[in-house]
Amino acid sequence: MKKELLYEGKAKQVFRSEVERQLILSYKNDATAFNGKKKETFAGKGRYNNLISAQLFEQLAGAGVPSHFIKALNETEQLVEETTIIPLEVVVRNLATGSIVKRLGFKEKTPFQPPLIEFYYKDDALDDPIINDRHALLLTDATDAELDQIKRYALKVNDVLHTFFQTIGVRLIDFKLEFGRNHVGEIILADEISPDTCRLWDIETDQKLDKDVFRQGTGDLLTVYDMILKRLEAVK
Ligand code: 5GP
Repeated sequence: MKKELLYEGKAKQVFRSEVERQLILSYKNDATAFNGKKKETFAGKGRYNNLISAQLFEQLAGAGVPSHFIKALNETEQLVEETTIIPLEVVVRNLATGSIVKRLGFKEKTPFQPPLIEFYYKDDALDDPIINDRHALLLTDATDAELDQIKRYALKVNDVLHTFFQTIGVRLIDFKLEFGRNHVGEIILADEISPDTCRLWDIETDQKLDKDVFRQGTGDLLTVYDMILKRLEAVK
């Protein structure tokens, strides 16, 4: 049972639950891009992100990556462990596309091996600027050891999900993670992992099966999110 609303973000609401230190994440149908400047509602989007994210967190739990995810409660909600979020967006890139092409001039599809990890400071007013490790230490309360742990987990998530997505004919191009601390101060993976937060390309055709179709206006969001969920359900 949901209790009071604690926080509302662009894509999710966070409610207190009846159990201490457990929260309910409710996935909304809103899609936003460019820091909220483009916005549209897609009936059913919340269901896709909830179910896709739940299955990916289950895969990661099986591979030993600790996260806030406890279980899916229904089609649009999941139960999670209460986490104090560290205000960093941790991006892992396997192939160059998106902001790294615009910002640094990498040729589209340049491979990064080892995968590239970047930190962005999570601050809407500043437009989530890219930062280095020293900035992260100064701007957040994360320690050096915690940043190292976050990077190790980010690479592990990439290994596990890259391999898993291959089994459903999808190439994991890049993605954004968020981490936090649980009530005993351990670093755990939080937020969501979905086509909102990953670039997912069909292995055969390079068709984009993620939020870029909405960001760039090149396709139907619900159609491609449905393709990802259907392929995941087929391997479940
Ligand atoms: P880029 O920096 O190229 O725009 O994004 C890199 C990856 O991180 C993409 O998979 C993108 O979906 C994800 N990402 C980066 N920032 C955000 C953000 O603020 N929100 C969401 N949902 N995803 C993000």
